[in-house]
Amino acid sequence: MGLLKGRFAVITGAASPRGLGKATAQLFAEHGATVAILDLDAAAAEAAAADLGGGHVGLACNVTDKAACEAAVRELESRWGRVDILVNNAGITQPLKIMEIGPENYDAVLDVNLRGTLYMSQAVIPGMRARKSGSIVNLSSVSAQRGGGIFGGPHYSAAKAGILGLTKAMARELAPDTIRVNAICPGFIATDITAGKLTPDMKEMIVAGIPMGRAGTASDVAGCALFLASDLAAYCTGTEVDVNGGSLIH
Ligand code: NAD
Repeated sequence: MGLLKGRFAVITGAASPRGLGKATAQLFAEHGATVAILDLDAAAAEAAAADLGGGHVGLACNVTDKAACEAAVRELESRWGRVDILVNNAGITQPLKIMEIGPENYDAVLDVNLRGTLYMSQAVIPGMRARKSGSIVNLSSVSAQRGGGIFGGPHYSAAKAGILGLTKAMARELAPDTIRVNAICPGFIATDITAGKLTPDMKEMIVAGIPMGRAGTASDVAGCALFLASDLAAYCTGTEVDVNGGSLIH
């Protein structure tokens, strides 16, 4: 099935081999999209793009750097003529308690998750507006909805809740130009974002709170991103879609 046949998609933070961005890039490519993987390290981004098959692109781009976001999108628009889909996936987390959050922790977590989502969106919006078409998918988290309680600290919950507000406000402002903006709220997904800091005890406790009784997989989230990016979701904008095995039934 080619749900994204002929589409050009940019996915940030997609070089992480077991990450949600890479799985999303793989599924988009399988559905006919040409994909650009943006990440901090050029070689890692290029290697991840090569894994998808021929014709895909890997670029270095730190999403906290506005000029770098604009340069990456300029390069892609000159190669492709347009960007149809943006997945704002780059993110970091830290397992800190409220009184442990220092200024540098706040800056790092808010900047990558929230500022990066704003800057990358600002880079693609002019082109999408000119063509009156586009889909932006933002990675929030169940942590935004339930106040953490999984791995990330309060600053991560705040950044991901900020992404929900940004998503809805962008969706409202951009809807007249047929640019859809939606958020995914993954629950506990087995990736490397926990950077070895997730103990077996923590994992057992988290899984015990998941009605489906298992951690999510990166492909569980990629499937939702595909739906939101594609024309199947043509009338969906400003939504937050839960991909959490029932962790937050409300
Ligand atoms: P991951 O750590 O596997 O991948 C994140 C990627 O982002 C890495 O490749 C990293 O190099 C890149 N990155 C970090 N800072 C960047 C920057 N400044 N510019 C560009 N790239 C940068 O993480 P993941 O688990 O795949 O998470 C992907 C997204 O999903 C994140 O936004 C995360 O907060 C969100 N999320 C993950 C989970 C989970 O359980 N894994 C749950 C909810 C939400």
